[in-house]
Amino acid sequence: MGQPYDRLRAAMREIGHARSVLALLGWDQETMMPRRGAPARAEQIAFMARLVHERLSHPALADRIAEAQADPDVLADSREQANVREFLRDHERAVRVPAALVEELARTSAQAVEVWRAARERSDFASFAPWLERLVELNRRRAECLGAPEGGELYDALLEEYEPGMRAREVESIFGSLREKLKALIASYARSGSPQHAALRARASIERQREFNRFVAERVGFDFAAGRFDVSTHPFTEGIAAGDTRITTRYTEEAVFEAMFSTLHEVGHALYEQGLPKAERPGEPLAQAASLGIHESQSRLWENQVGRSRAFWRWLWPHACERLAGALSAQDPEACYRAVNAVQPNLIRVESDETTYNLHIVMRFDLERALLRGELSVSDLPATWNARIREDLGLQVPDDRRGCLQDIHWSTGSIGYFPTYTLGNLYAAQLWQAAGRDLGDLDGAHARGEFFALLQWLRERVHLHGRRYTPVELLRRATGAALSPEPLLGYLEHKLQDAFAR
Ligand code: ZN
Repeated sequence: MGQPYDRLRAAMREIGHARSVLALLGWDQETMMPRRGAPARAEQIAFMARLVHERLSHPALADRIAEAQADPDVLADSREQANVREFLRDHERAVRVPAALVEELARTSAQAVEVWRAARERSDFASFAPWLERLVELNRRRAECLGAPEGGELYDALLEEYEPGMRAREVESIFGSLREKLKALIASYARSGSPQHAALRARASIERQREFNRFVAERVGFDFAAGRFDVSTHPFTEGIAAGDTRITTRYTEEAVFEAMFSTLHEVGHALYEQGLPKAERPGEPLAQAASLGIHESQSRLWENQVGRSRAFWRWLWPHACERLAGALSAQDPEACYRAVNAVQPNLIRVESDETTYNLHIVMRFDLERALLRGELSVSDLPATWNARIREDLGLQVPDDRRGCLQDIHWSTGSIGYFPTYTLGNLYAAQLWQAAGRDLGDLDGAHARGEFFALLQWLRERVHLHGRRYTPVELLRRATGAALSPEPLLGYLEHKLQDAFAR
């Protein structure tokens, strides 16, 4: 590679090192750090984040990028062009928002999270409302700095952060048709069959569960020589650097399979991190995830399409019986398969089943977009939320704790984040359908505990490309089709019929 591009790659690499340090500080804070280390850690993280921002927004960088764009080696290679293009995108986004606004958002959300925690505890929306108003206003200013794309709206500027190239209008159209069809599906299968969790009730010591979860993670493909598996209050995955991807889970003695699904979810994220070409391209955009939605698609695919299949439970069953040593109350894998797919509308998003979950997300997208546009006032949020839950899920919201105060996202100032959850589910279903077409009998392989073909397919079609394509383009290349709600709807319909309508 020519000199200008070499210099630019060196800059990318150094920013990458700083990001790795930040990731490691964050991982340590959630897993190992003693409680009293928190104030010093907050300072360390703020310092490192500032350092990354200064590097990324450095005025000299624009010239370096322009020089690299003219480098013959870049001009001759579309992959390297994409690498530079994405780095320019990061630079421009970093430059556009004034440091004072970045700081104000960070400070306000740090306080707002604490106010939200207390407000949720007491189900007291009124105390959180002024903070939410402030955060919406700051996000509006941030979106104005970033700029709405041609023909788009302010919300797009925020969405762009998480899902490059995606537009609110497109999300609205896909989510709208998804919502109507999901409502019909839920009406047919709500409270489907067996008492949902009875078959899944299983107690086992944390030690046994830890071994069991390690076993499952390893069998689906998590590389323990390039990763760690620890415990934290909120399960997460941190891709720290090449050869170092860490996942966590949370155990309770009486909820064996909750921990297992959480592990499968995080393993899905981790397989993506382990499949990105970080060793070849440290710190470069082409070694980073395409988007949050694509990241979520990888976790959902392993958690749902694989983990909630009959084939998976057939394979898992004897191992669960042996490793959890008689802790299971279900009689057979079929009972588990039905239990993990039962449809039961729930007020709480994170406790919702695979089918109703998306209605929660569609609602949050509609509401946060209306807030940002000024079409919905913060004071009207609880009533609007509750009416929507009644309409979509047929449930009464008894208090705001179980209503509009349940999620942390808005209190951290994240607007434009929610849709990535359902986009992830849509991508996952579409990838799963295409992988099945390409690879043939995936269920047969999974019933034998053979997951490598699927992982290999995902590596080639998704992981290896990093940020080379926008999420929708990546999906089109991997599956041969444009983003559509049909694969997810078809997958859910087929499974519910298979599990409950026989
Ligand atoms: Zn996730």
